[in-house]
Amino acid sequence: MTTSPAELSLETVAAARKAIAGTALETPLVPSPFLSALAGTEVLLKLEIAQPIGAFKIRGAANAISILPGDCPGVTCCSTGNHGRGVAYAAMARGLRAVVCMSALVPDAKVEGIRALGAEVRIIGHSQDEAAEESRRLVAEEGLAEIPPFDDPLVIAGQGTIGLELLDSRPDLETLLIPLSGGGLAAGIALAAKARKPGIRVIGISMDRGAAMYESLQAGRNVAVEEVPSLADSLGGGLGIDNRLTLPLCRELIDDTVLVSEAEIYRAMQCHYYEDRIVCEGGSAVGAAALLAGKLPDVTGPVATIITGRNLDMNMHADIMAGRSVRLGDLTLEGKPYHA
Ligand SMILES: *Cc1c(COP(=O)(O)O)cnc(C)c1O
Repeated sequence: MTTSPAELSLETVAAARKAIAGTALETPLVPSPFLSALAGTEVLLKLEIAQPIGAFKIRGAANAISILPGDCPGVTCCSTGNHGRGVAYAAMARGLRAVVCMSALVPDAKVEGIRALGAEVRIIGHSQDEAAEESRRLVAEEGLAEIPPFDDPLVIAGQGTIGLELLDSRPDLETLLIPLSGGGLAAGIALAAKARKPGIRVIGISMDRGAAMYESLQAGRNVAVEEVPSLADSLGGGLGIDNRLTLPLCRELIDDTVLVSEAEIYRAMQCHYYEDRIVCEGGSAVGAAALLAGKLPDVTGPVATIITGRNLDMNMHADIMAGRSVRLGDLTLEGKPYHA
């Protein structure tokens, strides 16, 4: 390992594993007979949907929060999604105050989801930028600690604990399919897995519209992308203008990147449901989507893909399972009933 920052190593991830035990779960790794038959090699699913918040982000948040002193006045972040849930849950578990800042445009269901975990929700302005500004103000004026969604060594190490669990249960794994957005998940898992098994292949998978890490890796610099509605909404968003860690780590540690379309994600969500009996977000189904679309023709098994989260609108899920069309912003994604 050459460019990895000094604050990240296998030891950091091992320390994270101890720090988050009791808050995050060690999740099951289960076979997918259907995807295994399709791929012609064993395919396993790492079920992060079993976490108390229904997503893996509890790992990074719990690790970052574990090092704060007991008299810390609290934590803040401005994520409306799984990171916000992770921060809320992990702060509550430590008895710390959590303030999650959001814009007035955030749907009520997301606001309630975070409030139900015990966090204070502060509604500020009409954009994510204004919410982020309020979060920074809480840091500067009230001494709250900001927990970043991915570009932070403790968050990356927390997500990396998945890599240790994977190789503990199956040292014979040859390929990891990892949903890729800001890259904290992929960087952490790849760091841990490659330290244990240098030859393991790590493939990052994103949706084909608005994939900031994919575009940035292609361009060799941090590229801003236009955010568009996607079934994989957890994979949207940029890398942050001051990205320090995840872009260089992903450049060094990810062997390949693959893009999947909305129609491919739609079908993969159906496949996980009808074949694996799993409810998951679009962002979790990109590994299966790439396999189903034949985009990983020479993959060597055993393969594991991370089922990263299950926090999606269940009306939308019901529509997809029934093969109905769904609205994504201005776009209508044509429905199609599932058949194997
Ligand atoms: C955050 C998230 C990801 C991507 O993680 P990054 O560290 O941003 O790459 C994937 N799936 C789900 C469900 C997420 O919430």
